[in-house]
Amino acid sequence: MNNWQDYVRRVIPYTPGDQPNKPNMIKLNTNENPYPPAPGVAKVIKNMDAGKLRLYPDPKIKGLIEELANAYGLDNDQIFVGVGSDDVLSLIFLTFFNSDKPILFPDITYSFYPVWADVYGVSYERPKLDDNFMIVKEDYYKENGGIILANPNAPTSIYESLDIIEDILIHNRDSIVVIDEAYIDFGGESAVKLINKYDNLLVVQTFSKSRSMAGMRIGYVMANKKLIKYIDDVKHSINSYTLNYASILAGIESVKDKEYFENSNKKIINTRKKTEKFLTEYGFTFPKSSANFIFAKHEKFKAVDIFGALKASDIYVRYFNHDRIDNYLRITIGTDEEMEELRFFLKKYLNR
Ligand SMILES: *Cc1c(COP(=O)(O)O)cnc(C)c1O
Repeated sequence: MNNWQDYVRRVIPYTPGDQPNKPNMIKLNTNENPYPPAPGVAKVIKNMDAGKLRLYPDPKIKGLIEELANAYGLDNDQIFVGVGSDDVLSLIFLTFFNSDKPILFPDITYSFYPVWADVYGVSYERPKLDDNFMIVKEDYYKENGGIILANPNAPTSIYESLDIIEDILIHNRDSIVVIDEAYIDFGGESAVKLINKYDNLLVVQTFSKSRSMAGMRIGYVMANKKLIKYIDDVKHSINSYTLNYASILAGIESVKDKEYFENSNKKIINTRKKTEKFLTEYGFTFPKSSANFIFAKHEKFKAVDIFGALKASDIYVRYFNHDRIDNYLRITIGTDEEMEELRFFLKKYLNR
């Protein structure tokens, strides 16, 4: 082996869900939104002056930050915007998780957390969720180098009440606590209302799910201005430019259209109800979902078998071959029509 091989940063990367591209497939595997973004987004992209692309974009992303601040009742300096919440979360790890004590996150959660911890050399512990996949809050009372929780959690879809979040905050005044709210708009109450009360709280959200803009890559974090400034300083020590010009324009239009946003979230919640109904009828069980997906297992059929059969019919759902969840399917809520196709397939497959 050459000498340089000893000095390579070797990592095991995160594996995102498949992005197959077949004409008639039904894609329920990566929690994308089945509806297009707000109509203003298409309009602003279509009318975009490509001549402007010769210029660097606004490094402060002022227009979009103002729109978000307005929507959440915050000051501009309480928001940091990045290239998807994965970018934001990664910067948060880099900025705040530098203690020699382990950071804490549940054994079952977003599988990117251990990847960032590994790439940045942060040690971690993973307290076990209980048998119902709920957080055991006392597990987070011990000394730690920071805490990160997805709420609603992925891939379980379970929302923990703000009482639990607040309890964990109260027991961790000396640690940074990050709440990853990628799915908050599908039924939970955001912890953003606690950021003025707890100076150690960061609340991360994304345009990828409830705003139908996974392809644009926009995520953001809300906190007190001191924490935001720390992230901003780290960000501007790596690359001054965050969002590209088109993303900034599109993001602004999305946030402006509150009515469209609320309506499409309502549609998803409505379809989720119908989906829960037929899944129950067909012998599936699942925790109560507060997200745009359902985490289901069947009383008789193995998840991996159902997964394979669905895939062979070009219906894609997500299966994780991980401890404790290897008999579950994570099924994204699509349109009513897509879920009806899923229902039709399952009815046949389960022999009903
Ligand atoms: C989808 C997701 C993200 C990442 O979203 P992007 O903004 O697209 O990077 C982060 N956290 C959780 C829990 C997610 O499910």
